[in-house]
Amino acid sequence: MQQIKAYGAINKDADLKEMTITRRDLNDNDVSIDILYCGVCHSDIHAKNNDWGNAKYPIVPGHEIVGRVLEVGNKVATYKKGDLVGVGCMVDSCQTCSACQDDLEQFCENGMTGTYNGKDRIGGAESDHTFGGYSTSITVREEFVLTIPENLDLKAAAPLLCAGITTFSPLNHWKVKKGDKVGVVGLGGLGHMGIKFAAAMGAETIMITTSPSKAGDAKRLGASGVLISNNAQEMKEHHASFDFILNTVPVKHDINPYLNLLKRDATMCMVGAIEPLEPMHGGSLILGRKRVAGSLIGGIKETQQMLDFCGDNNIVCDVEMISIEEINQAYKRVQENDVNYRFVIDMKSLKN
Ligand code: NAP
Ligand code: ZN
Repeated sequence: MQQIKAYGAINKDADLKEMTITRRDLNDNDVSIDILYCGVCHSDIHAKNNDWGNAKYPIVPGHEIVGRVLEVGNKVATYKKGDLVGVGCMVDSCQTCSACQDDLEQFCENGMTGTYNGKDRIGGAESDHTFGGYSTSITVREEFVLTIPENLDLKAAAPLLCAGITTFSPLNHWKVKKGDKVGVVGLGGLGHMGIKFAAAMGAETIMITTSPSKAGDAKRLGASGVLISNNAQEMKEHHASFDFILNTVPVKHDINPYLNLLKRDATMCMVGAIEPLEPMHGGSLILGRKRVAGSLIGGIKETQQMLDFCGDNNIVCDVEMISIEEINQAYKRVQENDVNYRFVIDMKSLKN
């Protein structure tokens, strides 16, 4: 067992602060990783604030982890010391149920193990509660470690491990293709990657935002147009014209205006608000045979596919670097809709 430095919260009202956690000794199938950078996802904030009612404290968030392999167990075949690797939102699953067999570990029927606030299946650390990437190192079984393409800027690649796969997976699953009109709702960490991916897949990509001030950024990120969602006239002009909408809004909201933007037989996929929504009007779906769907991150195989796609197309995230001491201020700014477009912690600041 190894004691390491981490940053976490002891209850929902506490600021994050430095603490000591333990990591298990290396097992045969484990990879131990020196964490270089960790992204700050809005989910980290939901979890710390116990917005989903399942928080166990202390909580050490962080599931957009990149770093270098420090050491590998005897049976590890894929990785060696020094490799550039990543860890996303999961560190384990049963590996035997039908979801795991279908490379959809995020839907493991026996429950995937979250990178933080999860229940560890392996043991060997002081607590069976998992601790995330706001820490100096992490030990993860080989199957849940990803390869980061060497040509990508490592710090800007960190958020690919959650924001990247969460937006890539639904665009991939619903087969977004050249010529489709795709809307991405919410220009934050997830939304800015949704725009980049949809544009790279050849779609006509429209940023659907509540913030007129973000229009310039949306276009720079690859949007061909910008739709201000609280402008009724603009919403009317785009009525029934979208093939697919990816909705990243992080809070309860009224989805009916977005459903009116869908073409007949088109789908809106929800990835943001994991909570009750405003009531949906049946007519919004029935008139036009429309669908509302959801999506959770992506499986390990698809996450590697996304990373390779980013390597091939030179896609990374737009990041604002912070030191670990700035994390509480960064949380405040994300909640105030003031992030361009993902905070990433330089973990050197925790190692001094
Ligand atoms: P974020 O950086 O805070 O971005 C969210 C964006 O949504 C904001 O920038 C804002 O964009 C828009 N927005 C905020 N409040 C709104 C409101 N009341 N009405 C309409 N639009 C609003 O958050 P994020 O990190 O991208 O995460 C987004 C959500 O996805 C979070 O709830 C997170 O927990 C969840 N998440 C889900 C998964 C999954 O697997 N499904 C994975 C990761 C994260 P505009 O200013 O452009 O309107
Ligand atoms: Zn996340």
